[in-house]
Amino acid sequence: MAKLKIVKFGDETLRRVCRPVDEITPRIKTLLDDMIETMRAANGVGLAAPQVGILRRIAVIEVEEGVVHELINPKIIAYSGEQEGNEGCLSNPGKYGKVKRPMCVTVRAQNRKGETYELTGKELLARAIMHECDHLDGKLYTDIQTEEYVED
Ligand code: ZN
Repeated sequence: MAKLKIVKFGDETLRRVCRPVDEITPRIKTLLDDMIETMRAANGVGLAAPQVGILRRIAVIEVEEGVVHELINPKIIAYSGEQEGNEGCLSNPGKYGKVKRPMCVTVRAQNRKGETYELTGKELLARAIMHECDHLDGKLYTDIQTEEYVED
């Protein structure tokens, strides 16, 4: 496994729409492993492929320690409720924004075996799913934040 360099806000890569994954090759599996290592090393709860410079529809999420969700070609299929809270991004270190998100989200995705599955998350997991899926369409939380905070 290898730790990858995280692209920062301002880089055009983060504004591109990512391409779907047609075939889960060994390279894609290595990318997933490297993304998990990179996310953990940066103490993040989620990371999307464009954040490591790869324009493919792939994200990893680990809200609960040890429970990693690998999302390949994710699609939000249901959402409900609303929550407002602080959100950050590994590509925008030291900053947070107040962002409204659904309280509950269901996403359909493939895992590394190519199996389609559904994941329903509430609260922080719902927020992470929305945040990472937005990345795959070139959208950033700062586009929808209502306030911005800078860490001391
Ligand atoms: Zn992010």
